[in-house]
Amino acid sequence: ALAIELRGLTKTYKASGKAPAKLALKGIDLSIPRGSVYGLLGPNGAGKSTMINILAGLVTKSGGTAKIWGIDIDQDPRAARAAIGVVPQELNMDPFFTPRELLDLQAGLYGVPKRERQTERLLEAVGLKDKANAYARTLSGGMRRRLMVAKAMVHTPPVLVLDEPTAGVDVELRQSLWAHVRELNRAGTTVVLTTHYLEEAQELCDSIAIVNHGQVVACDSTDRLLRTL
Ligand code: ADP
Ligand code: ADP
Repeated sequence: ALAIELRGLTKTYKASGKAPAKLALKGIDLSIPRGSVYGLLGPNGAGKSTMINILAGLVTKSGGTAKIWGIDIDQDPRAARAAIGVVPQELNMDPFFTPRELLDLQAGLYGVPKRERQTERLLEAVGLKDKANAYARTLSGGMRRRLMVAKAMVHTPPVLVLDEPTAGVDVELRQSLWAHVRELNRAGTTVVLTTHYLEEAQELCDSIAIVNHGQVVACDSTDRLLRTL
């Protein structure tokens, strides 16, 4: 069974102002198995964020089909969305909320009953127990990133999608984020991440799809793929 299944996925951004229309995805076929850590590797502008934003329901696809955990995003968009947690690239958050408040708020949004909330366990899992009651504005970039991971996991989705999880973070923090991702995967979460660092894909992912100019140009197990590069 698949975690994510894309068939002939296309996206055209409409022309706006001086920017011409842009064919950002040209028919993506992709099968991401359950239980894997799967990397979408490619240069800036390849279409990685567009794929993720379609899965998150933030961008409307132009054609093709997408299923998350077997749920077609056209047939039941809300159920499909509930099957993934998405960690966006941007770390925007209200500066005067605390991690505990943000996680409770998110749990409320997703209708997680109070008695089933795992706020404390999540804070611990991402190493923010000490910062549970600190204003978000006092958190470092790395702490914000980890808070966003916790936020994306509040409704315990089977799939976690991370858009450029270590863009702009230093080496030490990158290692600690990688460790968190591995832990989440060991605990049973399927992880899909985008990156333009080959090293990151190599370090974390069982399988990699290389995306360029809106197309999957190669996909295989990390070992096999890197042997042929
Ligand atoms: P990256 O994924 O490299 O961090 P972005 O996804 O922010 O970068 O943007 C990639 C490219 O998409 C950039 O060239 C940017 O100009 C373009 N882009 C991003 N958002 C928009 C938008 N809303 N309208 C037009 N172009 C955009
Ligand atoms: P990546 O995440 O791999 O950097 P994106 O999915 O952000 O790539 O971008 C793919 C292409 O679509 C790029 O050429 C980018 O400029 C364009 N693009 C992205 N977002 C928008 C947008 N909102 N409006 C117009 N063009 C966009």
